[in-house]
Amino acid sequence: MQKNDIVTAEIEDIGVNGEGIGKIDGYTLFIKDAVIGDVVEAKIMKAKKSYGYARLMKILRPSPDRVSPKCPYARKCGGCQIQEMEYGKQLEFKAGKVRGNLERIGGFPGDLLDRVTEPVIGMETPFGYRNKAQFPFGTDRDGEPVTGFYAGRTHDIIANTDCALGVPVNREILEIILAFMKEYGIRSYDEKTGKGLLRHVLIRYGFATKEIMVCLIVNGSRIPHADELIRRLRLIEGMTSIAMSPNTRQTNVIMGDSYQVLWGQGFITDCIGDVRYQISPLSFYQVNPVQTERLYGTALEYADLKGGETVWDLYCGIGTISLFLARKAGKVYGVEIIPQAIEDAKRNAEINGIENAEFFVGKAEQVLPEYYEAYAREHGGETAHADVVVVDPPRKGCDEALLRTIADMGPDKVVYVSCDSATLARDLKYLCGEGYELKKVRPVDMFPETVHVETVVRLQRKHT
Ligand code: SAH
Repeated sequence: MQKNDIVTAEIEDIGVNGEGIGKIDGYTLFIKDAVIGDVVEAKIMKAKKSYGYARLMKILRPSPDRVSPKCPYARKCGGCQIQEMEYGKQLEFKAGKVRGNLERIGGFPGDLLDRVTEPVIGMETPFGYRNKAQFPFGTDRDGEPVTGFYAGRTHDIIANTDCALGVPVNREILEIILAFMKEYGIRSYDEKTGKGLLRHVLIRYGFATKEIMVCLIVNGSRIPHADELIRRLRLIEGMTSIAMSPNTRQTNVIMGDSYQVLWGQGFITDCIGDVRYQISPLSFYQVNPVQTERLYGTALEYADLKGGETVWDLYCGIGTISLFLARKAGKVYGVEIIPQAIEDAKRNAEINGIENAEFFVGKAEQVLPEYYEAYAREHGGETAHADVVVVDPPRKGCDEALLRTIADMGPDKVVYVSCDSATLARDLKYLCGEGYELKKVRPVDMFPETVHVETVVRLQRKHT
C-alpha cells in the first residue's frame, strides 16, 4: 500500500476514535466517517508497514447501519465523529468500548462483566442536548467575521451558527454578535498574529429554567460599543447574564482567569432533579442535563444511602453530585481544585437549604490524604471513617495517592463516575487489588453523535 492508492474496502470494525476499520489482505486501514458494513472506495493518505489511514471517497454499498447526518458539516467538523451511524449502533459501540477497556486494561473476566454490567442509558432524542457551546471567531477570505466550529484537528473555522447538538437560540445570539462586529468594525482574534479582539463566545442555556448566559472572551480589557451589543442581546427572551472574560494570552485555553458582568447577574440557574444550581462562566457544569439527571440518579442508586452515611464527593465541581446525595446522607464532603467552583458549590448548598455538605478547595489527591493523616494524629491513630466515596475525575483519572487513601479509609462503597473508560479500568484494577469488588457497571450516553461515553461503577469492599 502506498500513499494516494485508491482501494476498495469493507468496513468490519470501529476504532476508538469512531473511524471505520477495513482490512485488505491483512493490511489494516482506518477510514474516518465509514460505518461498519459499508463497502467504500478510499484513498490512502498515510501508509505504514502494517496499517494506514485513508480518506473516504465514495460509498459503494452503504451499511444498513448508516443514516444521513442531520448536520451538513458532520464530516468536516471536529465536534461529531459518528453522526452517520444509526443511534442504536452508537450505543452498542459505546457499551463495547467500556467493556473492552475493562477487560483489556482492567483485567476483569468476561463472565464477571456479563453479570455486573447494566444496559447503556441512551437518549430518546440524541440531538439538541448541549446546554453549553463555545464558538470561536475568525475571519473569512473577504475579511468578514465568521463563527462556527474548528474542522477536525485544525483551527480552521467552518462557518456554521446552527450546530445540531446545541440549542436553537445559539444561532440567534451568534447572528446578533456577527452583525454587531460588522457594523462597528470589531475584529476577530487571529491566533497567528495575536491581534484582533473577539476570541470566543460561551453560551449557556438552562434547560429547566430557560435562562441564558452569554460570555464574550476578549483579547483586551473592553469591548467598544458594548452597550449597543448588550441592548441587542437583551431582547432575546430568557437573557439573564451577559459577561466578558479577558484572555490576552497566546494559548489554546478558551476562557480567561476571571470575568466581569456586563449586564444582569453573573450566573444562570438550572435544576437537575429537585436541586437548583447556580452556574457562572468559569464553572464546570455537565453539558447534557437530561442525561446528567440519569447519570446522577445511577450514582445515587449505586451509593444506596440510608440516611446517616458519611460521603466524600471528590472532583465535585460546583457540588452537583454532592448536593444530589446530601439529601439522602448524614454528611457530604466535596473536594474540588477550582476555587470559584467551590464558591458556587457553597452557594448551591445554601440556595437549596442543604446544611450537611462541606466543601474544600484543593487537589483530591492532597486534601483526602491530609485529612486522613490529620484525623489519625488528632484521634490517637484512629482511622477517619467514610461510608461511601464518590469520584468523578477528569479524563486522566485518579492520582494513585488518592486511590491509596481511599483503600486505607476503606469505605463500604466506592462509586466511580468516569468520562474515560481506559483510566477508569486502570483505577478499578488498583482498587480491586486493594480489597474491593466490582459490583455494577453502567455506561451512560452523555454525548450522542460523538465517541465519548460516561460510565458509573459501584465497588463494594470485600468483608474479611
Ligand atoms: N462532579 C462534578 C464535576 C466533574 S468534572 C459534576 O458532575 O459536575 C471533574 C472536576 O474535577 C472538574 O470540576 C475539575 O475542575 C476537577 N478537578 C480536576 N483535577 C482535580 C484534582 N486533582 N483534584 C480535585 N478536583 C480536580
